[in-house]
Amino acid sequence: MPTKKAIRQIIADIPQHWVGDGFPVRSLFSYSGGNRFDPFLLLDYAGPHRFEPAEAPRGVGEHPHRGFETVTIVYQGELEHRDSSGSRGSIGSGDVQWMTAASGVVHEEFHSERFARDGGTLEMVQLWVNLPARDKMSAPRYQSLLSAEIPSVAVADGAATVRVIAGDFQGAAGPAQTFTPINVWDMQLAEAADAEVELPEGHTALVIVQSGAVRLNDQAVQAVELVELERAGTSVRMTAEAPARVLVLTGEPIGEPVVGQGPFVMNTREEISRAIDDFRQGRMGRLD
Ligand code: MN
Repeated sequence: MPTKKAIRQIIADIPQHWVGDGFPVRSLFSYSGGNRFDPFLLLDYAGPHRFEPAEAPRGVGEHPHRGFETVTIVYQGELEHRDSSGSRGSIGSGDVQWMTAASGVVHEEFHSERFARDGGTLEMVQLWVNLPARDKMSAPRYQSLLSAEIPSVAVADGAATVRVIAGDFQGAAGPAQTFTPINVWDMQLAEAADAEVELPEGHTALVIVQSGAVRLNDQAVQAVELVELERAGTSVRMTAEAPARVLVLTGEPIGEPVVGQGPFVMNTREEISRAIDDFRQGRMGRLD
């Protein structure tokens, strides 16, 4: 018999700020507020925001990462990335880039040339996923998860769909390879859709309402709000009061110390000092 995961807290009224000149985001949470949502370190939600055509792509210039993964989910618009390993690529609507920074990556994140030229609406998420200490200094890697590779599962008699980006939903496996057990589900619900969603016992469990409005276990949640569920329990009831887009994240807590500074998240102060030094000395590489 499934037991409900109770709501621990709802985070609302999240202010928007700009990351570079390309990303108007709400930071729904960050490791700087404590490692509350282990193994998830940070979540920025951008948009939907309308950009007029521009001469040059907007975005964020060269910067490093070490010690974790950045997961970029594009809902609308198109991004381009370029990094110190010489890899580059675009991320379009429905696509996900799962970048394991691990020992260190230097990259830039911009709107694509085409999106900049034509203008349009941008909507995206960037999620940071922590790595266990044993994997923080492993080799960087990229997973380009194209929309067509991401399985979609119908629930609530077809009134809702779940795109399985990572983990497993009702036997459908997401394409992302992860270091620790994680689920990332992109849900869309039609008005009045009513779903009992099973979630793993013991996982950190977060529900982000990006648009529309839902009831979670009979509590009203609006866009843009973040719900933290209790780790105990195995399900949540989700009812759409308006057409809604919802991101569900669950993850097994890593349970290790988190010491972070800006784009580096490690386990100790000394490792942060080394990361800063390694970046300054060019040991994470550079962009051409
Ligand atoms: Mn970055």
